[in-house]
Order: sequence, then C-alpha cells, then structure tokens
Amino acid sequence: MSIEIWESSPRDKKSYGAIKLQELNKPKTGSLVLPGDWLGVIEEFTPGEGTYEENGIVYASSIGRVLIDNIEKRVKVIPIEARALPRKGDIVLAKVTQINKMLTFVDIARVRGQNLANPFSGVIHISQISTGYVENTSDALKPGDIIRARVVEEKGELIQLTTAEKNLGVIYATCSNCGAELERRGNFLYCNDCEEKGTRKIASDYGKVKI
Ligand SMILES: [Zn+2]
Repeated sequence: MSIEIWESSPRDKKSYGAIKLQELNKPKTGSLVLPGDWLGVIEEFTPGEGTYEENGIVYASSIGRVLIDNIEKRVKVIPIEARALPRKGDIVLAKVTQINKMLTFVDIARVRGQNLANPFSGVIHISQISTGYVENTSDALKPGDIIRARVVEEKGELIQLTTAEKNLGVIYATCSNCGAELERRGNFLYCNDCEEKGTRKIASDYGKVKI
C-alpha cells in the first residue's frame, strides 16, 4: 500500500515535489532519523519532543530514534549522541548476537574507534557477507563472533552492514563446544582443545587484532 502526499525534501525545503511514499519507508518506532527527516503528517500524530511541524508535515529536529505513541497519537525523537552515530561507509566493530537463514543480527560496539556505551543494532543480509556465494549464514558467521564490518545504510530500524571485503569479517571467534579461542588455519578456524573445525567469513587479519 502506498500513500500520496506532497513532501518537501528535508534538506532543501524550497523544492517541493509529489513523491509517492511507500508505507514501508515510513519511519517506525525505533527508526534512526536525522534532523529534517520526514516523520509523517499532522493528521497522523502531534509533534512531540525532538520534532517540529511545518506546513502540516512533521520532521525530526534532532538525531535519534523515533518513538510513536499510538494511543496519544504523538511522535517523539529520542536523541542519541551524534558523534557516535554510525554513518554510511564507516568501519565498525560488532558482536554477532543472532543468526537466521538470511540475516545476521549484531550489536555495534565501536564506531570510528569510539566504544559505545549503548550499542546500535545492525543487520547483515546473507548477500552482503561475502563476495562469494554463501549458502547458509551459519557457514560464515556465528553468534558470539566479533566482526569488522562496513555500514552500507544507516537509516531505518537496523543499521545495514556488509562484510564482503578482504579485511572485513570475523576477527575473533571462540569454539562453540569449549569456548577456547579458535585458531586460523588457511580458510578455516580450528579449536586446538576439541579439534572442532569451523568455517567463517574471516577477515584477513584474523587472530592478529587487539580488541
Ligand atoms: Zn573447542
């Protein structure tokens, strides 16, 4: 379903144009927004803190996460620290928290060399894990792995990441049986204690990185 409204471009309020906005692109609770980002129209909700209204359209006035109160019909933006915001192109350090067939969920713990008090949630689509073909997410990434990744998209509820570069991927991993640090041997990771062998999307400097 799509809605049709007159949207002013957030960063150029002089240029108006009719843009068909997909419902999918609408900011939802948890979406990351920047100042000037479109949040919706005044008919949907009243602007709360971290937002402002202009010509019936509600915009974000600060960097933060959207919070929509459906009962009060109010939208707020909960501010986050701007300097820690992962931006497109940034290299980040993250820990894999969960995987499924198509997606890897991570907590982004370091951005531009800065450790974050509150990690950002990120996601890697299976097609973004490697330049080669990955059949199952679990062949390349596992919960608990520490990875280096690049931000491909910072908007939306989850920051989208890629590990499809030589120096990106797993930089530290432990054995799922015994917890010992896995050692790299060629393209595989081995546990010296229980001889478990695992496959990963390994960063070129695996095992050499001080975390
Ligand atoms: Zn082991």
